[in-house]
Formats: sequence, C-alpha cells, structure tokens
Amino acid sequence: MMLGPRNPRLTASTASFSLSFAIVGGGIAGLSCAIALRRVGHRVVILEQDDGKEREAGGSRVPPNMSKIMIDWGLQEEIDRLGVHTQDVKLMTWESGEIFHTDHWQSELLAESGGDFILMQHQDLRRILREKAESLGAEIRHDSEVVEVIPQCTEEPPIVILRTGETLRPDVVIGAEGRYSRVRDECLRMQDHRRSTGLVAMIKREAMLEHPELNVFTSTFNQEPTLFVLCGDKRSALCFQGGTSGNLALILWAPDDRPPEVRDREPWMGLISRERVEELMGPSNPALAKALELCPGATRLTVMQSANFSDWVHPTAPIVITGDAAHPSLAGSVYASSMAVEDAACLAQLFSYLSRRDQIRTLLSAFQEIRQPRIARVREAEEFMLQQMVFSQSSSSTSIEDARKDLGMEPVSSMDGKPANSPVCDDMIDVFAYEAEDAANDWWVQWGLLYERASGKKVPAQIAVHQVVEEIVH
Ligand SMILES: Cc1cc2nc3c(=O)[nH]c(=O)nc-3n(C[C@H](O)[C@H](O)[C@H](O)COP(=O)(O)OP(=O)(O)OC[C@H]3O[C@@H](n4cnc5c(N)ncnc54)[C@H](O)[C@@H]3O)c2cc1C
Repeated sequence: MMLGPRNPRLTASTASFSLSFAIVGGGIAGLSCAIALRRVGHRVVILEQDDGKEREAGGSRVPPNMSKIMIDWGLQEEIDRLGVHTQDVKLMTWESGEIFHTDHWQSELLAESGGDFILMQHQDLRRILREKAESLGAEIRHDSEVVEVIPQCTEEPPIVILRTGETLRPDVVIGAEGRYSRVRDECLRMQDHRRSTGLVAMIKREAMLEHPELNVFTSTFNQEPTLFVLCGDKRSALCFQGGTSGNLALILWAPDDRPPEVRDREPWMGLISRERVEELMGPSNPALAKALELCPGATRLTVMQSANFSDWVHPTAPIVITGDAAHPSLAGSVYASSMAVEDAACLAQLFSYLSRRDQIRTLLSAFQEIRQPRIARVREAEEFMLQQMVFSQSSSSTSIEDARKDLGMEPVSSMDGKPANSPVCDDMIDVFAYEAEDAANDWWVQWGLLYERASGKKVPAQIAVHQVVEEIVH
C-alpha cells in the first residue's frame, strides 16, 4: 500500500505527572532523549564528560526513520541548511573504480517511508540536537563525568555521583554513554564480550576539486548526492558528501592487525596517520587512492560484534540504558544514530502517558519490550548489507550479484520502478517506514490501558485518548 506524505507532529501531548531525568552522556542518544522528554513535559539534566567544545568528527547518514523524527522536533530548517538529500547508491570495484551497480531510491519509496535520506557531518548533527535540547529547556552540563550510579531500594531515588563528588537524586537515570557504558557494565551488571572483527577509519577532506581523479565523487555533489560503496578483497569503503560542507566523508573497513589487548578498548577519537591509513587500505582505484592521499589522517575504531543485552532496565530501580549503551552498533553503521533517536521518541512517548509515579517500572519495561525486537530486525538487515559489501574477491565472485549468489541470496534488481520486488528494498521500507512514537502508542492502547484498569486505577480521559485524537488530526 502506498502511503501519502506524512504530516510532521510538531506538537506533543504532555504527561500529567512530571519526573526528573538524569541522562548520562550527551551524544546523539542522550540529546535525543532530552529533546523528546522535554517535549512531553519532563525535567531533564544531561551529564556529559566532555568539555562541550565542538570537534570534527566524520560523516553521518540520517535515514528516513530518523529524519522524520527530527522534522517532528521542528528541525526541518536545520536539516535543509546542513544536510544534503540523497536517493542514489553506486557500487564501485575497489581495484578499477568501475561502477557496476546503481540503485536509485524512488521518490515513492521515500514518500512511503515518510522521510528523506540525508547526509551530513556528525558534529553538525550533534550541534543541532544540542541547540534544540537547550531551547526546550534541558540543562546540559559539560565536564560532568559520572563515576557511579547507585540503584538504591525501590522507594528511594537512584544516586548519580560525578567525578567532582557532587551527587544527584533524579527520579529516573538514563544510561546513554555509548558502547562503553558504565551504567550497563556496573549497574545492570552486563559486560560486553566484544569480538574484534576489523577496523574502521573515517576521513574527511576539503579542497578536492583540483584533483580530476576525484571527479567521480565530486561531480555528484549538490546535484545528485550519492552514496558510493566500494567493494574489495576483505576491504570496503563508503564514500559520501558530508552535508553542505562539501567535504568528502569516507568510512573504511580493512583487516585489523593490532593485538587484541590494544584494539579491544578503542576510543572513538583514536587518530592514526595518513601513511598508516594508506598501508591498511592497500592498493585501490585512482579515485580512492587520491582521497586517501589527501586525507590528513583518520579516526580509528574497532568493528565489534557486540552482545545482545537482554536487560536494558534495572530489576528494581528506575534505571534504563539506551542508544549504543543498550545496543552497541557496528562501527560505521548506517542505523546507529537513527536507532538512538527512535529509542528516544519511543521512551518519551511512553512517558507522555505517565500520571503516577508507580507507573515508571511498567513504562520502562514497555520500552525494552518494544525496542528490542526492532533493534534485532534492523541489526539483521545491516549485517546482511555489510556481508555483501565486504566479500572476498579471491572467491569466484566478481560482483555483488555474484557474491549474493555465492551466499545463496536472491539477486537484487535495480530499484527503478520496481521497489516492491526487491528483498533489499522491502527490508529498507521496513526500516525506513517505522514510526517509533506509533509503536509506543500501540503498546499503550493494547497493554498500558489494560494494566491500568486491571490495577483498579482510574485512567484520566485525556490520557486514554490522546493518541487517538492525534491520529484523527493527521
Ligand atoms: C566523539 C564522537 C564522534 C562520533 N562520530 C561519528 C561519525 O562521524 N559518524 C557516525 O556515524 N557516528 C559517529 N559517532 C558514533 C555515533 O554517535 C553513535 O554510534 C550513535 O549515534 C549512538 O550514539 P550514542 O549517543 O548512543 O553514543 P555516543 O555517540 O558514543 O555518545 C556517548 C556520549 O556519552 C559520553 N560519556 C561516556 N561516558 C560518560 C560518563 N561516564 N559520564 C558522562 N558522559 C559520558 C561520551 O563523551 C559521549 O558524548 C561518534 C561518537 C562520538 C562519541
């Protein structure tokens, strides 16, 4: 069924009972939670360990399932100013640079998903979310590293302890400190048994226009921004325009030759030299080789197959994890930020139904129940995609289509005109079209109201119906 364009949900219904949330970590997950929770009337403080100075990062992809939430949050103008819209994906061979497959996402496909696919710089994405959170009244505290969270007993609020010795006692703690989450490791007692499987580097570079070898990439800038996928022998790369900055963002995968004890706790900002990047990536086609030559260096991080954490909510205390802390993404993941933003939209929508303190546990459990299957599905789709990108050319495979056949997968036709027939396309519609707030509303209608009535509590009329009214309005 083809859906019409979606109306942005610029306003949100607020909770009749307001709580204080302490969010540990001011990355995409923490900032998104702050925006979404402020929209529904809760009080929020973000505790971020860094100093708040903006640093260059890499390129971010904002798929439709995320861009539409950002538009609901009133960020259309910022997206248009800093991001570029893309509908094209080109697959290129590593060695020769030959483009052997092009996908063009039909406008109908994107319309059906209700959002756009946007490319932008990661630091821009983070800045616009930070500014939005602040404008909605969230308090953001930098230089505020959290060293411990003490759950306490059910009646007492959890205690958050900062490195400075200061303590906070919020109603709810959200662990949004990324893949090395302390709240998860120490408070929920789940360790991430990481298995290193490779290496990712990110490179960004201005002033490429003088080099004709790079025309294949730069000629698409601004007219038809394209996501290039380069497929090599155990190597792979993504190459795209870093938003309106005109920089070129590269995400690279290559075998990792570092000893496990060095690579297993790699921070995001571990920098390596240009020479080392070239060495790791090996010989490549002239366009990629030139891009590597021009790059000043790269951010390096370990690709990990992280555990699937079964518990995102503390068994007795109001403590929950979200974003990469709850479901660490593959480095270079297309969907990592969008999953963090969906988490936030879902969590806040559930808490828009809060009318009493004793509902906190039920709503946190609902968050986990709704989000875990969604994350599992998206991970599966992403692993499938990566499997196809990083395939060995030492096998008989000469193209992605051959590699798919080798793996027993169905061949994928060009998406032009036939979106419904492509399995990849179907997967994408499933990922892109998801509405995180609707999932929360559905849960409330199906289960939340039932629990309320079963517990003999009177449900205020506006809480029982606010999502239904929204549906009629839209
Ligand atoms: C500096 C940086 C640059 C990145 N660049 C890119 C990029 O270019 N492209 C891309 O696709 N993805 C990038 N990512 C990753 C991407 O943001 C995440 O994979 C995804 O958005 C999920 O975000 P998250 O908020 O869950 O985790 P993260 O983005 O890892 O954010 C976690 C935040 O928590 C803070 N934190 C950690 N521990 C504590 C503590 N104890 N107390 C207080 N604060 C704490 C960290 O400083 C960080 O700001 C980057 C992440 C970081 C941190």
